[in-house]
Amino acid sequence: MSTAVDVLIIGAGAAGLHCAATAAARGHSVVVIDHAKQAGKKILISGGGRCNFTNMYTSPENFLSQNPHFCKSALSRYTQWDFIALVQKHGIAYHEKTLGQLFCDESAKDIVRMLMDECDAAGARVQLRTEVLDVAYSDGRYQVKTSSGLVSAHKLVVACGGLSMPKLGATPLGYQLAEQFGHSIIPVRAGLVPFTLHDTDKEHYAELSGLAVDVVAENDRASFKEAMLFTHRGLSGPAMLQISSYWLPGEPLSVNLRPAADTYADLTELRQQRPRVGLRTVIQEWFPKRLALALCEQQGWPDKKLADCNNTLLSEVAETLQQWRIKPNGTEGYRTAEVTLGGVNTDEVSSKTMESKLQPGLFFIGEVLDVTGWLGGYNFQWAWSSGYACGQSV
Ligand code: FAD
Repeated sequence: MSTAVDVLIIGAGAAGLHCAATAAARGHSVVVIDHAKQAGKKILISGGGRCNFTNMYTSPENFLSQNPHFCKSALSRYTQWDFIALVQKHGIAYHEKTLGQLFCDESAKDIVRMLMDECDAAGARVQLRTEVLDVAYSDGRYQVKTSSGLVSAHKLVVACGGLSMPKLGATPLGYQLAEQFGHSIIPVRAGLVPFTLHDTDKEHYAELSGLAVDVVAENDRASFKEAMLFTHRGLSGPAMLQISSYWLPGEPLSVNLRPAADTYADLTELRQQRPRVGLRTVIQEWFPKRLALALCEQQGWPDKKLADCNNTLLSEVAETLQQWRIKPNGTEGYRTAEVTLGGVNTDEVSSKTMESKLQPGLFFIGEVLDVTGWLGGYNFQWAWSSGYACGQSV
């Protein structure tokens, strides 16, 4: 079977579906192909099944890219408010959870249904269970050999995402196609991903699995005030996922375990007010008991009355609690990462249209590009904005 269309989109994920509806609404014949059995698989499991579909405070500062200016044009032409208007048009109930993060009240299925309805209404066809076997370009058209036959298209949109979560269908096809047409790839790595710890640290903190504390996690490039979660493999929770995108192997992290406090001032004041109370007791008043004990044991802090603690000891305790240094062993990698950092070099792509500057009629949208958002709905917003910019220009 052979089909000829104006626009062929590879990837029925967030970016591909939104692009398809936008392009088809402009009168183009559009086909989206995907090797998965279901469209929008990541959307379906995102946000714990409720999809954190955008963030009210989206701005270019919430994105990582070798070219931080690249995302600006698309984000400003299709904003979080445009997507919220679409969600409202479809009668999908939603709420703000925290920090501007918008989630469906009911289910992420509502977002996939909305995108599929938009594709249907505009006449874009979504063809699942279709493998891409070969892509060639001749006489101004893309000839894409698939497991369901040949598709010939005037424009080819690469929307097949990054490498995170291979069990959900992630493959390197997008990067391979980019390289085939002469593009360079900014080295990829897992982002928004839990940390694993070295065995000695794991032993110390293993019993804390499931415990969460509000912290500031930082390095010299970024700082996030959110919750940190101890897991049986290491450290997770929003603060750790966020800082993981700014972390390089071998680097330590600094975690402020009492972000709202001046711990040295608190300790010296307590020494005056409650001199007979033990140092370990005070630490247990500040943290869940399991964490307090683990910290005291690991740091070797004595079980002394505050009156017997000199300024040097109190200053050491304060410094450790406000700048707890931990050196991760690594991350859990693409298996659990929410996103892939790096990707198609944005210097070789138009920020207005998402079209390749090297190859006519070839477009890249969504996560396959070297644009990665923070945790909190920013990655979907990038998928919607870049998908729209492309859909408007193909
Ligand atoms: P994808 O949505 O990944 O779509 C790519 C599509 O291409 C897939 O359907 C895939 O099957 C298809 N494909 C891949 N390879 C091939 C191939 N070889 N042949 C054919 N088809 C192929 N972001 C948020 O903003 N909010 C959240 O709440 C959120 N939660 C997340 C939770 C999890 C568990 C994960 C993994 C990610 C989450 N993200 C979230 C990130 C977000 O899902 C992605 O950034 C976004 O889906 C990227 O959109 P995309 O269209 O570029 O790629």
